[in-house]
Amino acid sequence: MQGYNVFYPFGTDDNGLPTERLVEKLNNVKSRDMPRAKFIELCQWTLRKVTPDFIQQWKNLGISADYEMFYSTIDKNSRKISQKSFIDLYKKGLIYKKDFPTIWCVECQTAIAQAELEDREEHSRFLTIKFTADGKDLLISTTRPELIPACVAIFVNPKDERYKWTKGKNAKSPLYGFEVPIIWDESADMKKGTGAMMVCSYGDKYDVEAIARHKLNPKIIFNHDGTLKSGEYKGMQIKDARKKIIEELKTKQLIVKEEPITHTVNVHDKCGTEIEFLPTEQWFIKILGKKKEWISLGKKIKWHPDYMRKRYENWVNGLEWDWTISRNRYFGIPIPVWTCKSCGEVILPDERELPIDPTAIKVTCPQCKGDTEAETKVLDTWATSPLTPQIASSLVRNKIKIPYSLRPQAHDIIRTWAFYTIVKSLYHEKSIPWSDIMISGFVTMNGEKMAKSKGNVINPNEIIEKYGADALRFWAAGSKLGENMDYREEDVLVGKKFITKLKNASNFVFMNLKDYNGKKPKKLDNGDIEFLGKLNEVIKNSTEYLLNYEYSKARTEIETFFWKDFCDNYLESVKKIVYQGNESDKQSVKYTLYRSLLTILKLIAPIMPFITEEVYLQHFKGTEKEKSIHISGWPKPEKEKYKGHWDVFKEYLSMVNKYKSDNKMSLNTSLGYVALPAKDYDKIISTYPERFASVSGASTFGSGEQFKIEENDKQ
Ligand SMILES: [Zn+2]
Ligand SMILES: [Zn+2]
Repeated sequence: MQGYNVFYPFGTDDNGLPTERLVEKLNNVKSRDMPRAKFIELCQWTLRKVTPDFIQQWKNLGISADYEMFYSTIDKNSRKISQKSFIDLYKKGLIYKKDFPTIWCVECQTAIAQAELEDREEHSRFLTIKFTADGKDLLISTTRPELIPACVAIFVNPKDERYKWTKGKNAKSPLYGFEVPIIWDESADMKKGTGAMMVCSYGDKYDVEAIARHKLNPKIIFNHDGTLKSGEYKGMQIKDARKKIIEELKTKQLIVKEEPITHTVNVHDKCGTEIEFLPTEQWFIKILGKKKEWISLGKKIKWHPDYMRKRYENWVNGLEWDWTISRNRYFGIPIPVWTCKSCGEVILPDERELPIDPTAIKVTCPQCKGDTEAETKVLDTWATSPLTPQIASSLVRNKIKIPYSLRPQAHDIIRTWAFYTIVKSLYHEKSIPWSDIMISGFVTMNGEKMAKSKGNVINPNEIIEKYGADALRFWAAGSKLGENMDYREEDVLVGKKFITKLKNASNFVFMNLKDYNGKKPKKLDNGDIEFLGKLNEVIKNSTEYLLNYEYSKARTEIETFFWKDFCDNYLESVKKIVYQGNESDKQSVKYTLYRSLLTILKLIAPIMPFITEEVYLQHFKGTEKEKSIHISGWPKPEKEKYKGHWDVFKEYLSMVNKYKSDNKMSLNTSLGYVALPAKDYDKIISTYPERFASVSGASTFGSGEQFKIEENDKQ
């Protein structure tokens, strides 16, 4: 509407863990129980089935993307671009492979990235158990006694007087009886528990670092599926093993203290399972060494609302790991790599062969002619979706260049989609991906995020069925940018009422415009000039709000003008003129009605695309040249200057109406005399002399000390 050609392709992100989980649920299967190829086939089959409906939902909502310009993050072109990105970053030394303890989900059985962690409050038991050293008890507090067999050292703080006697000694573990060194390490927290702590392989990130720092030999006791590898509890799940071991410690009187504790644990955001640290070989993109650059790039982007940039910066500052991009999963873009079994050489395909599945191709090592092994892990979908600028651009033969103008997205994926897009954009294009980013909130129910498990999910299709997409959009446009908004059905009704009013008001206006020729009359009434001046203000304000992405402020501006100014007051004040006025007044009013209604429709069209198009096609198409309101020109303020008289007029009309309703008079009761304060009287007499008398029902009005009404004699 502002005359720009907007590049707005439509894409679906449909691979990786979220897609796998959806496919598992819809088909009631578990990927790990199926042959890999069969599961991938099932994913593709399911996507073909559900995608058309999914896209239709966006269309039903009136999202004005170009649906012909379509991509999916698993289609051939995206696979090619994603694998090319991998090869490019590998060649630039920005991707590496490492075998070390990474964040692991035992439910999904894959490595995951720091960005996929969520905090959860968990009730647990803080146990103080007996190790021994030098014939004495050495008490250790822990919430995870099942890790005793994985213990490789005890740490105490060298400043801790209580443990001076432990220097150079070993500690003997309860139940198992193996010995581990007692290490004096300043990182041991003297205030936590007894001050002596088990270092296990691996309880948390602290353990990972402590074990690496002291070059201790880890003892890995968990399988990838979260069962125990050996010993008495072999095959048991971690939590069951914990219960059993607590029982056994109790029987042997090895627990000296037990207290309930509520602490925060890290869980996987996709499945809610508590994460572990397991050593596996994974691929990483380097991000840790560049925190300053990520922050300075964030500053080059305009964030809407601005405080979301802080969230981005907090995330960057809190980064503890490089970005894990490989997943031990099935339905994702293959990592295009072979590794030589004899010399370890990493072999990459030629870019012209992309996309490829390395498991389908046999390759010999160019260095030693030895056998190679194809990489079986796949790329996480977050390794591909940050390439959406490049993927979108490829749809138009790279004619559209990065940076783009806008990324719209929600706040929960600042640390993933926004951050990773910035990372890849710098690494590939040496540029920011977009100049602006607009961050939205969520729809909540009683302040809580909607979730099937909580039973508080509202299906938008049902709201659209019942009230129409415009009502839903009108409601959604009331959310403050960046903030979550609670869903309440009665709030959607407000939008529905707006639609009805818009239809009725338009019908009324056009009923009275039958002989109107669409032209601006030579002479406009002062009152109409003033009203059009007010309309110009509304255009200015709402345009400015929209340009700043403050759509809720724009919505309120237009909504108020339509209800309070246009319907309640302007239409009321000109009814008599339309019916009985002289020709010159009639032409002035008709022109004002036509222009203000068309302007209101255009201003609200981005929020309510369906009803505005309907009214436009029904009433305006004969006189306006564009075939759709959505390609008609955005309203511009014209030359009428607003003097503020309309608001004064409106204010006194409502005071008169209030007087009548307080005194139980009908609204068309005629009054004897209305006195107005001098300054307001001057405004009304210069602009609305007849209209004030006619709508207020005052036979005369004049200037007085203060507002006062005298009724007609009631005889
Ligand atoms: Zn998981
Ligand atoms: Zn080799």
